[in-house]
Amino acid sequence: MGKLVLVLCDGLRDDTARTQMGYLEHTVAVRRASRMTALAELPTLSRPCYEAIHAGVGCAEHGVTTNHLPRRSVVPNVFGLAVAAGRTTAAAAYYWFSELYNGAPFDDDADREVDDPKRAIQHGRFYRDESTPDGETCAAASMLTRRWDPDYLLVHPMGLDYRGHRDGAGSREYRTHATHLDELLAALVPQWLASGRTVVLTADHGHDDDRSHGGTSPAVRRVPLYVLPRRGRAAGDTGRVVSQLRLAPTICAALGIRSAPTMGGRPLAVTDGPSPRRPGRPRGRGRSPRRPAPPARGPYAVARRS
Ligand SMILES: [Zn+2]
Repeated sequence: MGKLVLVLCDGLRDDTARTQMGYLEHTVAVRRASRMTALAELPTLSRPCYEAIHAGVGCAEHGVTTNHLPRRSVVPNVFGLAVAAGRTTAAAAYYWFSELYNGAPFDDDADREVDDPKRAIQHGRFYRDESTPDGETCAAASMLTRRWDPDYLLVHPMGLDYRGHRDGAGSREYRTHATHLDELLAALVPQWLASGRTVVLTADHGHDDDRSHGGTSPAVRRVPLYVLPRRGRAAGDTGRVVSQLRLAPTICAALGIRSAPTMGGRPLAVTDGPSPRRPGRPRGRGRSPRRPAPPARGPYAVARRS
């Protein structure tokens, strides 16, 4: 049985991640991550895509066809399956996740902070303001990790979507916010990996220069997908484009729980590869490039910056 963290960066474009998120791209370059492009489901709107990611089916089947449909999920989903299998779930996320998996409408007094084993999201810290700083969401996720040691943790920063609507995806504000988020994750991802967790980072949808999303253009459909196994080597930049619907069975497989028959997609490979080679050891004859030395401590010891 494994543990997994899903970092769902709301509104993060694939090309923006590639140019602005240096830490994540470093993990790809040294093959600690497998990088793919995920094709977001239609419509490229948050609530339908949240459900597509967690249920593994499109909106024609899960029924959440619009953002303006605050109701609980009615199809098998990752949170429900995990709790039914005796696993622990947690989320630091926008309140629409509470409505989808814990119940709607959202009640500020009862639902904002949840620690209840009977709920599908057992340990939830939910925010209502789209401008909530991503640092606060990441801090809540770190707290949930330490306090409850969840098997499945959803981390859902909203800052990029907020800036995309305010300034457009072609703006300096959107681009620099992606780098800011990358810095926040550079502090957290090594801790999650060191605690034996697989980390998956993706987005619900992208964003366009018209400060919008919902349509079919590559700007809103193509989102990044990084898979970091808890140890060992990954595939690096695969160049593959995969369906967003494969995330749900992938999460189930990583957790070691049975996926639902409704989840038609195949799980992506997240199993660990062989460990990185030690420096100085020969690797076959001649043509192989010299490999960088592994970090001194842990799988991702991050150098201190002055
Ligand atoms: Zn949006």
